[in-house]
Amino acid sequence: MADHPRFGPAGVPPLFRVLGARLSDVPGLLREEGLDAFEYQAVRWGQKPQMKQEDAEKLGFEARESDVLLSLHGSYYVNLCGKKEVVEASKRRLIACATAADWMGAYVVVFHMGFYGRVEKSYAFRNCVNALKDIIEAMNNLGIRKVKLGPETMGRIFQLGTLDEILTICEEVEQTQLVIDWGHLHARHRGLFRKIDDFRAVIEQVEKRLGTQAVRNMHCHFTKIEFTDKGERRHHILDEPKYGPDFRMLAEVIAEFNLRPVLICETPLLDVDAVKMRDILREVMRE
Ligand SMILES: [Zn+2]
Repeated sequence: MADHPRFGPAGVPPLFRVLGARLSDVPGLLREEGLDAFEYQAVRWGQKPQMKQEDAEKLGFEARESDVLLSLHGSYYVNLCGKKEVVEASKRRLIACATAADWMGAYVVVFHMGFYGRVEKSYAFRNCVNALKDIIEAMNNLGIRKVKLGPETMGRIFQLGTLDEILTICEEVEQTQLVIDWGHLHARHRGLFRKIDDFRAVIEQVEKRLGTQAVRNMHCHFTKIEFTDKGERRHHILDEPKYGPDFRMLAEVIAEFNLRPVLICETPLLDVDAVKMRDILREVMRE
């Protein structure tokens, strides 16, 4: 949860790696760029944390020193709507992610719920909600109470993750954090965001369902995105004029509603575009 809008990259920027930076150097380097959020990518993880507790704690320490807010993107190998054994393995993967998030002090594990598959959408959704309740219970039994689970709006039509589904999860499951991926929503609805009102409509819906605090404290992903009839195809950089959504319009709405989201940049340029997004919001706020 942020006290002001925060910006940061999804994962370690490639240049940091070229410079030979260690994971624990990342928060300080982001701070030098004027960024204040970082989403650690645990996207290929299996059923055990794939980092040492010591390294996670070191990252957490450095992040607090540099006032960089940490989040963790959970494993892609998760499907909470499928067959029992798939769901059970998915639960273990998310619990492993939550364990590491707890070590580093990340406030949320962002994750993808999975695919509808051949079953009724409403049936898949119920399975997912039940699995999430089990995961929260398991986390609490492990003493993990500060980390929230962050279901994300998804970009492809066969993936569970419409705005309505995400809002329902946040209403029904405790210890959840709303995650709006604006690029995904744009792609799923084949170009949803054409004018400022289209962004406003999402904000108003979130506020109506989850309240003012939830809308103010959204965790967001942003990228320009290319899509087909089935949804998301490819991420693009902020300066690519051919694709939407337009970050300036979102910035206008953030200013208008006095929001303080965490904005994680998922364009191919990561930190470079995160800085651009921050500057656009500053400009809009000044106007
Ligand atoms: Zn994601």
